[in-house]
Amino acid sequence: MTNLPAGMRRRLADEVPFSTLQLVHEARSSDGTVKALFHTADGHPVEAVLMRYRDGRRSVCLSSQSGCPLTCTFCATGQMRFRRNLNEWEIVDQALHFRRIEAIDHAVFMGMGEPMLNVDAVLAAARRLPDVGVTHRRTTISTVGWLPGLTRFVDEVEEPIRLALSLHAPTDALRSELMPVNDRYPLENVLAECRRYFGLRRRKVFVEYVMLDHVNDSVAHAHELAELLDARVFKVNLIPYNPTGMYDGASRDRIAAFKNVLGTARLPATVRLTRGRDIAAACGQLAAAAA
Ligand code: SAH
Repeated sequence: MTNLPAGMRRRLADEVPFSTLQLVHEARSSDGTVKALFHTADGHPVEAVLMRYRDGRRSVCLSSQSGCPLTCTFCATGQMRFRRNLNEWEIVDQALHFRRIEAIDHAVFMGMGEPMLNVDAVLAAARRLPDVGVTHRRTTISTVGWLPGLTRFVDEVEEPIRLALSLHAPTDALRSELMPVNDRYPLENVLAECRRYFGLRRRKVFVEYVMLDHVNDSVAHAHELAELLDARVFKVNLIPYNPTGMYDGASRDRIAAFKNVLGTARLPATVRLTRGRDIAAACGQLAAAAA
């Protein structure tokens, strides 16, 4: 804004900054994925990712918290210290950052943090996304099934924002091993809330299932999963495990066999395309290492 006096421009930059976030580092993957590390004004790390797909889709992966208080054993964010919830603008500004690079048309709340622990800011941010080019139908909020937040989402959100559930195991025993939060909010209660969502909104729930070699990826697990999930309500997305230390990823063959069982049981599944693994920008790898 060179039409304004320099002193005024300086004051504006200080007092009305363009963004609540300061960009600290940006990494580019060979597949076109971009990962940005920001700091909040009080110095907490936040990562967000822009994923570019061959069909032209441009999807941003947004963080809802700096760090995460949950301790899922396969996720790197759970190993870093939890800082705090992000506010509405700290979430929107992640999308705006990438919007300045190019037009975006999808958003997933699948970055750092558990969105349902920060429902007000997450919903306020999600409701602003259409203004930057992302419609509600192309916005997905992912949760471990944190019930108080999920219940609010089901009751309050009339917009067609999509819901994804990180399930990862077909039984309470195994799920509690992988995701301690399951002790607090067991499978059946979480699935019941998802069925209530479908009943009210008539939108399917995406189930995310990370494929851990010889942990949750056997044909027997696939049968249990098919038994557990009503195909009218749920769609399954199998996620190849991105290395974070603890586990090995299921092989292609094991993923194919698992998928096959689900398909035969009429619970069709898709396999998530992995993006940004070489820059630790893939699912579960966000941990602000450079911070
Ligand atoms: N806390 C919310 C939002 C984060 S979404 C949730 O868990 O749903 C991040 C997704 O990536 C979740 O489905 C998570 O289970 C998955 N994920 C975590 N670690 C992963 C890893 N190492 N490889 C692949 N997917 C992983």
